[in-house]
Amino acid sequence: MTTPVLPDAPASRDGRLQIRAERAAGRPEVAPDEGVELRPAADGKGEGVLATRPFAAGDTVMVGFLVGELSGNDSHATQVGPDRWVRHGGLGPFVNHSCDPNCGVRLNAGQAFDFVARRPIAAGQYLTFDYAMRNFTIDHFPTACLCGALQCRGAVTGWKDLPAARKADYGHLVAPYLRAMDEPLQSPAHHPSVDE
Ligand SMILES: [Zn+2]
Repeated sequence: MTTPVLPDAPASRDGRLQIRAERAAGRPEVAPDEGVELRPAADGKGEGVLATRPFAAGDTVMVGFLVGELSGNDSHATQVGPDRWVRHGGLGPFVNHSCDPNCGVRLNAGQAFDFVARRPIAAGQYLTFDYAMRNFTIDHFPTACLCGALQCRGAVTGWKDLPAARKADYGHLVAPYLRAMDEPLQSPAHHPSVDE
């Protein structure tokens, strides 16, 4: 097993220390019956999370849980509000970005994000989601996107720069705060359609 390689992000000192402490504590463990597994990514760089059984569209593929609040953004932070970031435990942080992802995210009762299948997922496929489903801006990733999707937008962008059609496609499988942030801009007085 290799250690995941994090980009040398300009994270706060506390954030970096926290990542190191978590890594020193060992790899995330997931029961085999959860249907997902950590694997080296297809491109040989880093790692990804693989489905070990089929999932139907709408299935909860992975239940999220939090391991801490953060003082700011870093490369493995999850944005949960305009000025709030948290760290997820388990395999969630290893799910890779795609501009045409097979999963979306749904906030659960523990204020963490579950991964939910947007379409059927076969055993042996990597789980993906769009970082723009959780982050308003992307501050700590290289700008070029290498996801390989036909609809790749060329750069890993946040919700702020996501085309309206993509927002519509993702429906409610995005962080609720992102939808809320769009509301003042898309009030009925200005736009008859929310997703226009
Ligand atoms: Zn892409």
